[in-house]
Amino acid sequence: MLSDRFGRSIEYLRISVTDRCDLRCTYCLPKGFKGFEEPQDWLTFDEITRLVAAFARLGTSRIRLTGGEPLLRRNLPELAGRIAALPGIRDLSLSTNATRLDRYAPALKAAGVSRINVSLDSLDREQMKSITGHDSLPKIMAGLMAGKAAGFAPIKINMVAMRGVNDAAIDDMVAFCIEQDFVLRLIETMPMGATGRDTGFLDLGPIQERLQQKFNLQAQALELGGGPARYLTTADGSASIGFITPMSQHFCATCNRVRLAVDGTLYLCLGQEEKFEFRPLLRDGASDAELEAAIRLAIELKPQKHEFREQPTKVVRFMSQTGG
Ligand code: SAM
Repeated sequence: MLSDRFGRSIEYLRISVTDRCDLRCTYCLPKGFKGFEEPQDWLTFDEITRLVAAFARLGTSRIRLTGGEPLLRRNLPELAGRIAALPGIRDLSLSTNATRLDRYAPALKAAGVSRINVSLDSLDREQMKSITGHDSLPKIMAGLMAGKAAGFAPIKINMVAMRGVNDAAIDDMVAFCIEQDFVLRLIETMPMGATGRDTGFLDLGPIQERLQQKFNLQAQALELGGGPARYLTTADGSASIGFITPMSQHFCATCNRVRLAVDGTLYLCLGQEEKFEFRPLLRDGASDAELEAAIRLAIELKPQKHEFREQPTKVVRFMSQTGG
């Protein structure tokens, strides 16, 4: 098993397959942003698969494909199939904004992706226009329903909760997710880049208490993917709502993940700058043993915790550059 200096087992790798996105969510990527990685610097499918195989030999068993918007990367189902077939990989999931999911859902399912997370911050078309910079809601809804029809389970809805933006939309989203059998997760905004910092922070503590009363929810320690969310469930146990609170109640002590960016940079923490470059190794003929040794070295760099509260201006890269 891979384990870091603080005794945490690192068994989860998130892979950003592109830093590009077709949406411009206000808290994530600035309008007019041009600093994307060039195609020659993107890890190829062969390079990604080789690196994931090395992680898997060291005990990493869970992979999430993300971005940017991962469905913008051409032939993503092919990459998914190659990763799913690697010995040791027992869970392959995808984070998407779902704008293209109607086209790709069956192929992704067939390739071995079992779970999807869909970002959706409101059910109001105009509000989604202003949050995402596009008239995205109809496409997202079509994608979500295609995902459901393709048999992904569970489908989790990630809603970034923003004070003064979509806080009034939370209750409708809870009702929608209960009705549709989606697992809603409310997420506190992190100060990643200027976009994240400029977004109204909403402490989810009081929201959790209010929703608990209104929807008669009960605290339950549910293992829903091994992530950082704390879940509440409806009285009959049929629906769950997760709260991801990196700001008001961080969960660094149980962090089990690292993130590979599209250019082969491994980021050890969302909220710190520690990183390790794998592209030079992959392109300079490193052996499998050398790759494994490099992974162990990189994991040694994982910091104890983020400092989003203490140093909110520290991280200048946007979430889409690291891979959310
Ligand atoms: N495009 C995919 C999607 O929409 O899910 C995957 C990438 S996106 C960067 C991953 C997640 O990061 C989304 O749920 C998004 O809402 C979240 N995110 C982006 N910037 C954030 C921030 N500053 N704070 C909290 N969450 C953020």
